[in-house]
Amino acid sequence: MRKGKVIKCPICGNENYFKPSRLKKNARFCSVKCANLALIGCKPNKGSFKKGQIPWNKGKDFIQIRGTNHPNWKGGLIKCRGYVFIRMPEHPRSNPGGYYPEHRYVVEQKLNRILKSCEVVHHIDGNRSNNSLKNLYLFSSKNKHDKHHGNQYNRKNPILKPNI
Ligand SMILES: [Zn+2]
Ligand SMILES: [Zn+2]
Repeated sequence: MRKGKVIKCPICGNENYFKPSRLKKNARFCSVKCANLALIGCKPNKGSFKKGQIPWNKGKDFIQIRGTNHPNWKGGLIKCRGYVFIRMPEHPRSNPGGYYPEHRYVVEQKLNRILKSCEVVHHIDGNRSNNSLKNLYLFSSKNKHDKHHGNQYNRKNPILKPNI
């Protein structure tokens, strides 16, 4: 009889057989990829999909990691809900997994300072993975950012010019 256990990965939902040695290490995720996604707080919206809808993990822009097949991959880039995260554990604001949103980092490099947590970096073209400076707009507060999106829905849709 096999002594391992079949465990459902909390990130992608795949069921995988875990050997007893892996169970001892408290492994829960099917892969390094899923473990990293958990670290950046990328979780499926449980129960939000109705029959016939495309499951969250089949979405085009949900999960992507560049370079996972490369032997020297050290967890450099991860994509979650369209946003790109880069692994930089040395960043003072990186999350417990050592990841930091690339769009914020790009702006910080340009401004030569760490962004305040109240500041919001907005993607002008709506493409969350287009982190070119020309596509980024810095709002000084969450309120101003929310207000901009509110205007968009009201079809006032002010066209923003990059301000960084
Ligand atoms: Zn998984
Ligand atoms: Zn925005």
